[in-house]
Amino acid sequence: MSTPFDPLPDAYRVRLDELRVAVAEIGLVLPGTVLDRYMPCGKPGCRCQAAPPLLHGPYCQWTYKVDAKTRTSRLHPDEARALRLWTAERRKLTLLNQRWDALGLEAAAEIHELLHR
Ligand SMILES: [Zn+2]
Repeated sequence: MSTPFDPLPDAYRVRLDELRVAVAEIGLVLPGTVLDRYMPCGKPGCRCQAAPPLLHGPYCQWTYKVDAKTRTSRLHPDEARALRLWTAERRKLTLLNQRWDALGLEAAAEIHELLHR
């Protein structure tokens, strides 16, 4: 006969509520990264060809993957501000998801320990 157990002990309830609150604050999310790039133009004699080179830019770029292929898109600075925020939100969500997984793994290990001693 197995020992009855609470599927959501208080110790986990508090941490789960913290994760729920944090996730509820996440806005739009976007995969990929928004970067400021500096690049050479290739024109002979241009400052970007000097030593040391003075590259052109910054150019805002959004890099992301679709079907395992990397895509890059040049952004307007205003667009870059929004997309940078959304990619940061996605990184926060990914971290919260990892913490949520870790909590579930910890709870599963504890229940396993309790029922198999
Ligand atoms: Zn140049």
